[in-house]
Amino acid sequence: MGVVCSVVVPVFNEEEVINETYKRLTEVMQSTGESYEIIFVNDGSRDKTALLAREICKNDSNVKLIDFSRNFGHQTAITAGMDHACGDAVVVIDADLQDPPEVILDMLKKWREGYDIVYGQRIKREGETIFKKLTAKVFYRFLRSMTEVDIPVDTGDFRLIDRKVCDAMKTISERNRYVRGIVSWLGFKSAPVEFERKKRFAGTTKYPLKKMIKFATDAIMSFSYKPLKIATFFGSFVSVFSFIGLIVMIILKLCGIGEYVDGWTSLAVISLFLNGIVLMILGIIGEYIGRIYDEAKDRPLYVIREVVNFTEENVK
Ligand code: UDP
Ligand code: MG
Repeated sequence: MGVVCSVVVPVFNEEEVINETYKRLTEVMQSTGESYEIIFVNDGSRDKTALLAREICKNDSNVKLIDFSRNFGHQTAITAGMDHACGDAVVVIDADLQDPPEVILDMLKKWREGYDIVYGQRIKREGETIFKKLTAKVFYRFLRSMTEVDIPVDTGDFRLIDRKVCDAMKTISERNRYVRGIVSWLGFKSAPVEFERKKRFAGTTKYPLKKMIKFATDAIMSFSYKPLKIATFFGSFVSVFSFIGLIVMIILKLCGIGEYVDGWTSLAVISLFLNGIVLMILGIIGEYIGRIYDEAKDRPLYVIREVVNFTEENVK
């Protein structure tokens, strides 16, 4: 009998939570009375996560493990899970129990009503720093204003996708990916399920500021040329402005109005400011070129060290 629901769980240094996550997920999945699989994707953890996951796999054949050769990042781990999941529906959930596993039941219900994508929408976030909440709020809205793709706000990767969507995902090989954006880009019939985002069960966030910034740039750069357009606009604006200034100065000079010896400070300020803008714009262009370079190299998205409990269906 085929698997009805696959649950993909990316784990990175989650030794403090993985057993509890397994327990909660299993309770929920067993209550459905249908066949399921839980796929842990170990994203190069440096603690005992892999060991614990193997232990769980040994005692429960519903649990499977994809062990990466190193840390490839959260979004890549999710992708690997989706690539290998064999369920008719695939759920992606964080390992830290911030996304309550019980919500999966609501998602399955919506899925049975005929929706291809059921995404969890956070109506409240508990136990996170003000900084995280604020940056998240601003980020989702900013991203929306930057892109043409309809990416729902306040939505993480906690979602259910139908087999059709999962198969469509597999045809997309882009790097530096923003999975939830790609899912929105694909289209399909989607519906939200609201939930309250809980406190992390244990351990600390695996998304330090550096990863958050990388994540946000990936999201914006993969779905929008607007940064380039803004750069063009800014550049044109400054050029027109300087040109007018130039004409005015020439006229003043010809008419012999004004004193031109001092003014070094203003010149230095203008020059520094313009150079700053030029460098910033170069940086934006560089970001895009770097991404093109990544695509051109065409390296695999991830490298797997080992898989545990896989069946023929998973490797298909
Ligand atoms: N994660 C991962 N690789 C990483 C960072 C995070 O697989 O490089 C996983 C992590 O184990 C968790 C999920 O991604 O299951 C979300 O991370 P976290 O809860 O730390 O992020 P936050 O909720 O603080 O944004
Ligand atoms: Mg979390």
